[in-house]
Amino acid sequence: MSAIDTNIARAMDYMARFREEGVNHHIGGQSVPSASGATFDTISPVDLSVLATVARGAEADMDRAVAAAKAAFPAWSKTPGAERRKILIRVAEAIEARAEEIAFTECMDTGQALRFMSKAALRGAENFRYFADQAPGAEDGQAIRTATQMNVTSRRPIGPVGVITPWNTPFMLSTWKIAPALAAGCTVVHKPAEFSPMTAKLLVEIAESAGLPPGVLNTVHGFGEDAGKRLTEHPDIRAIAFVGESRTGSLIQAQGAKTLKRVHFELGGKNPVIIFDDADLDRAVDAATFMIYSLNGERCTSSSRLLVQESIYDEVTRRVAEVADRIKVGHPLDPETVVGPLIHPEHFDKVMGYFATATVEGATVAAGGRRVGDTGCFVRPTLFTGARNDMAIAQEEIFGPVLTAIPFGDEAEAVALANDVDYGLTAYLWTSDLERAIRMTDALEAGMMWVNSENVRHLPTPFGGVKSSGIGRDGGDWSFDFYMETVNVCFPRGTHKIPKLGG
Ligand code: NAD
Repeated sequence: MSAIDTNIARAMDYMARFREEGVNHHIGGQSVPSASGATFDTISPVDLSVLATVARGAEADMDRAVAAAKAAFPAWSKTPGAERRKILIRVAEAIEARAEEIAFTECMDTGQALRFMSKAALRGAENFRYFADQAPGAEDGQAIRTATQMNVTSRRPIGPVGVITPWNTPFMLSTWKIAPALAAGCTVVHKPAEFSPMTAKLLVEIAESAGLPPGVLNTVHGFGEDAGKRLTEHPDIRAIAFVGESRTGSLIQAQGAKTLKRVHFELGGKNPVIIFDDADLDRAVDAATFMIYSLNGERCTSSSRLLVQESIYDEVTRRVAEVADRIKVGHPLDPETVVGPLIHPEHFDKVMGYFATATVEGATVAAGGRRVGDTGCFVRPTLFTGARNDMAIAQEEIFGPVLTAIPFGDEAEAVALANDVDYGLTAYLWTSDLERAIRMTDALEAGMMWVNSENVRHLPTPFGGVKSSGIGRDGGDWSFDFYMETVNVCFPRGTHKIPKLGG
């Protein structure tokens, strides 16, 4: 049997259970259908076949999950950090033990290539390990003294929180939000994306099998407009950690206003990769193509705008087009595949729509720009050249393996083009001139920048965007600032003078 046939056979074994049992909510340690009995189907982007029937949650299911999270909060929040650490490390180990099952399930449900998803499961475990290790110190604050006062700051978990996640690398992203919430002592209600619900079921099962008490993590499936909306409006949910589109973030902020929700948003991006003519072009081209064509380009941090200095524009775009043309598009479980099918026919139609728009706007299709095959959601890795920054393909988040190239003359023009979008998540800069790198990174509007580097993550560093790309930061202690309340207690040093009134 070829490697792909072996992988598909294994995946079918993993899928059998989902087909038989469906994907239920997981509330208070129990797998439960929707109170209404409503369901929806999750489909394979490879051939649009139904993978599983999923419980479609609504207000009653969300209320039940929030009640479970509320009931579990007193005990979990009082569990010593060292004990929470032990449990979360066991969760990380259990994820590692089931990494293949997670990766294969993710590939089937999302269309992402196995070569990337096998690492995504392990990164999920790393997220748990990292935040587990921070749990014992999470409540520590500062001692701030004056001549008359001693202030002691500490942090306490904010309460039950809602985590709402998108469909791109859903397992890894969910752990990135859920692990710090649990480490901080919060209980969680998770609403996974409707296009990719399967690995969320695995996550909560794995966590409980590793010793996470029932009710500490609850999962309610369903659509944003009913299950998601109810979570953001529920008075017992103290905060919402959301990853998804910018316009959904705006809706969530409005929905949560009445109950004064604390929100943390990781939203869209239209990230520039800026290449100057003094850059190491081999490395720059490798990084630029990796950051747009890996993970199907369905990645908030993808480098979707290629800004290249005029003198090297033709060479760089020619080389990028050659890479794009060589990339294998195919079944996500084929070890050779780089680009798998896009998540869902709706998203496929959106990306195809940009192929048409680009031509109407007058850009040139230098690579790709077309679907692959007649079934499934496959598209060729695409490069548009001859684009202007005011075109839709340069301004809007396409969220596929689609790169828009624009030339620039000098530093000032590079900065102007890079910043002339609503988004500000990441920027990638290639130059061998250190002074220029400092000037550019001072001027670029992005929450995260990489100089002469692809996107290499280090978990203690802050992660998040500016402008329409987000509110707040994750990573390191920034995550705990979101999931915890900081409290100050003041003690007098000696007997200071207290004003006497009325005497
Ligand atoms: P989306 O905004 O459509 O959906 C995300 C989640 O929000 C889903 O679970 C959905 O059901 C829910 N939702 C939708 N409407 C809601 C509402 N009114 N109330 C509550 N919940 C609601 O996003 P998507 O299409 O699933 O994901 C792709 C987007 O996510 C892209 O824009 C991408 O850039 C962004 N993203 C950002 C980051 C980051 O770190 N900045 C990371 C990954 C993805």
